[in-house]
Amino acid sequence: MKKVFGTCPRDCYDTCSLIVFVENNKVIKIEGRKDHPITQGFLCSKAAKYIEYVYSKDRVLYPMKRVGKKGEGKFKRISWDEALKEISNRIKGIIREHGPQAILHYEYAGHCGLLNYYFSLRFFNVIGASGIKHTICDSAGEEAIALHYGLHYGSFPEDILKAKMIVLWGINSAWTNLHGYTLALKAKHNGAKIYVIDPVKTKTSKIGIHLRPKVGSDAALALGVANYIIENNLYDSEFIEKHTFGFEKFKEHVKNLA
Ligand code: SF4
Repeated sequence: MKKVFGTCPRDCYDTCSLIVFVENNKVIKIEGRKDHPITQGFLCSKAAKYIEYVYSKDRVLYPMKRVGKKGEGKFKRISWDEALKEISNRIKGIIREHGPQAILHYEYAGHCGLLNYYFSLRFFNVIGASGIKHTICDSAGEEAIALHYGLHYGSFPEDILKAKMIVLWGINSAWTNLHGYTLALKAKHNGAKIYVIDPVKTKTSKIGIHLRPKVGSDAALALGVANYIIENNLYDSEFIEKHTFGFEKFKEHVKNLA
């Protein structure tokens, strides 16, 4: 049996390290690496289905052309040459008639892996197509993280273990960030306090103090917490002075809302 080392291709914060066991050119088992600090030897249920997914009879392995109406589910298999010709003719026709900007490259990561994620950019750049900001969902989050840390790479998941208090805000991490959830449980075991802020009761909400704001009111909760911290002088004023701007304005803002 051959062991192949790889990385989970999903656009997931955990980026798990995989050991794929191959026998007679067939994957027979996939495990998470024990020596990887985040993977910790286990994978989530999505990865547990990888073998089923790769060898599924329903997997689309060849170009399929729609032959019925949209939504009717009627397709016929065509060759790669036919598919490429069909697509290039459509693209050329649109460029001829309306110009390249009439084509919008609407894409993001999901399950692509880094190569596929970036590769298509080159093609659409060459033909001069319109594009999006290479994201369809996380601009607000990236902006917020960049404002805090300078770049939007976030913090190291291992740092969860150093926390004295962990706030899981609007996340059911037992389902969507399993390794972060396990680290949070370890931190709790070491004495950290966990708060879960979520209108919904979830598996995650059971591991800490659960606050259930009404849907859409969590911005008010965040500003209220900020105001409490400021009014009770619980913040690091040296840090605020050295590394932030607009604090006085923010102070006034949250006070007026309280
Ligand atoms: S948690 Fe699951 S989806 Fe995320 S990287 Fe690990 S195996 Fe992949």
